[in-house]
Amino acid sequence: MHFEPLSTRRIIRAEMHELSVTQNIIDVVCRHAEEAQAKRIVRIHLVIGELSSIVDDSVQFYFDFLSEGTLAEGAELVFQRLSVKVRCEACGHEWEPTSADWTCPLCGQARARVIRGREFYIDSIEVE
Ligand SMILES: [Zn+2]
Repeated sequence: MHFEPLSTRRIIRAEMHELSVTQNIIDVVCRHAEEAQAKRIVRIHLVIGELSSIVDDSVQFYFDFLSEGTLAEGAELVFQRLSVKVRCEACGHEWEPTSADWTCPLCGQARARVIRGREFYIDSIEVE
């Protein structure tokens, strides 16, 4: 029997994730471009939260070959990073943590919940 080291399996799973995410982006933008009767997609604006597991280099890598022969071929990917914002469940205070310590600076409770930073979505596309 052959066992892969856990770390290798983790990496493969992460890359499969970005592969399917990138395919999904291409499907969505091509559908919109077809509906708009565009000749090609020039630019795709993507928003990625800092806590999102998406790695923009991987998306770019997969995009370059998955988009071949589609309306998205040659389009520029523009990534916008969203910083993390959390809200204290105890007192309602909202802040942008600068470290891994999410203790509320107002009331001292450690009950912060993420309200921004996990996003990953297509913000807009530019077509010709
Ligand atoms: Zn608080």
